[in-house]
Amino acid sequence: MPLTVRPRRKRSVRMTVTLLCGLLPVLLGTAILYMQAERTLQQSTQITAEEALRQFELMLDNTAQAANELLPLAGQPCDSVKLALREQVTRRPFVRSTNLVWDDNLYCSSLFGEFKEAVNPGDYTQGKLWLMNGNPVTPNTALLVYRLSEGRGGALTTLDGYHLSNVLRLIGRDTLLLLQVGDNWLSADGKVHQSALPVLPVAQHMLASSRYAFSVSAGFPQGETWRYMADEYPPLFSLLMFFGVVSGAIGHVLQRRATSPSHEMLRALEAGEFIPYFQPVVHGDSKKWSGAEVLMRWQHPKEGLVRPDLFIPFAEHSGLIVPMTRALMQQTAALLGPPSAGFAKPFHIGINITASHCQDLQLVDDCRAFLAAFAPGSVSLVLELTERQLIEPTDITRQLFEQLHTLGVMIAIDDFGTGHSSLGYLRKFNVDFLKIDQSFVAMIGIDALSRHILDTIIELCVKLELGIVAEGVETQTQADYLTAHHVNFLQGYLFGKPMPGADFIAALSHH
Ligand code: C2E
Ligand code: CA
Ligand code: CA
Repeated sequence: MPLTVRPRRKRSVRMTVTLLCGLLPVLLGTAILYMQAERTLQQSTQITAEEALRQFELMLDNTAQAANELLPLAGQPCDSVKLALREQVTRRPFVRSTNLVWDDNLYCSSLFGEFKEAVNPGDYTQGKLWLMNGNPVTPNTALLVYRLSEGRGGALTTLDGYHLSNVLRLIGRDTLLLLQVGDNWLSADGKVHQSALPVLPVAQHMLASSRYAFSVSAGFPQGETWRYMADEYPPLFSLLMFFGVVSGAIGHVLQRRATSPSHEMLRALEAGEFIPYFQPVVHGDSKKWSGAEVLMRWQHPKEGLVRPDLFIPFAEHSGLIVPMTRALMQQTAALLGPPSAGFAKPFHIGINITASHCQDLQLVDDCRAFLAAFAPGSVSLVLELTERQLIEPTDITRQLFEQLHTLGVMIAIDDFGTGHSSLGYLRKFNVDFLKIDQSFVAMIGIDALSRHILDTIIELCVKLELGIVAEGVETQTQADYLTAHHVNFLQGYLFGKPMPGADFIAALSHH
């Protein structure tokens, strides 16, 4: 028969949830730290690029000033201007050489004096700047040439690549920093490259000068964000780990709390740990066994035999009581069904049910299956419903009790005297028996008021033609009193304690 409860969450699912609880703060925190690291690196490349730009412009200002002063001398004989050329080299910081041009021919140089070399304005970006990979004097050494021309004359002033690569190295100490002029670019190692500017993978920042035809590019190599985080954030990572462990532990505990005790009970149900004990009920007059009440016990692997009042409330709360009762009825039928042909008829078997059983008609099928296990007519099934937990009369309950009666199932109100059932209630549910609560029986011979209530209940039962069962009969005095007052059935330690199925069947033959 299918269980009507939610299936237990698998161990692997619980582990996964715990793991997720632990990972969530770590992943979230790492993502936030990653974004923070990226922002820091962006700021760093921006500052670096701005600083480098400022330095290069400052250097080029010197070459521009030298060229400005020399340009009016262009066209004059080299001998008369070469001292002026050398003076600029000496006076201006960063300026390595100065040259004069006439009709695109370099004819005078601060280094050689008279000279002859063709000048191609196309080599210069925007006609102004040329990043060269050396000249005949210093091959393979970067050189930045500044060109100023007007009419047929022109001045060329050069800036040593050593100063440029120095800036790239010193300013961009932790950063990749490049200087780009036209199609050529200079790296911090002083080499001039003739290719497209490489893309810097992390936090690239490019800045173009508004005054000269160059730009700088700053950035970081691949993986820099993680490297930065590993260097800068170890304490924060430890904190994240701590939060992860705490959050995982909380997730684990919450799951355990959410799963217990009903999950533990579902496990026990699947393991068949809920077993029936049987307590005999005797005839009031002959004291012969007239039947038994089935009482549930939990045979717990660690705790031993657990009393029902310790777990039935949880079972009711979780809805597990329905499949648990069904399993109890199946075990009872399997135990008592085979010897049932020899029972003194009618043998009453009492089963405790709760309000949860009365929400649908499944109980009818359970009772039908139960009765089918016994020799025809050998047993009467009595469903015991406690008066403390009265059920609301609805369409479903009306149908349920009608169908149960058609099946021949009887109804007993358990713990009678402790609740508030009315006469109307007893009639509505076609009650067959009242089970007088043991607290009244215990007062026989002790408390006059309780005895008075007991007498009233007995009178009521006689008037309503209901069977009476007295519970908790422990002494001969109680038994004698109840018999004298025509109580039909007695149940209590005086006649037998609840016992396992095998003991009950063995004892049954003597009674
Ligand atoms: P109950 O239905 O009123 O059952 C009678 C209780 O009184 C049983 O306790 C029984 O052992 C105890 N009893 C019987 N004779 C004497 C006596 O002479 N003296 C004393 N002091 N006690 C006596 P038990 O087995 O511990 O069950 C306790 C309660 O747990 C039951 O009260 C019933 O409400 C509930 N219960 C037991 N089995 C089931 C079940 O299968 N389903 C449901 N829904 N409830 C059950
Ligand atoms: Ca009972
Ligand atoms: Ca009772």
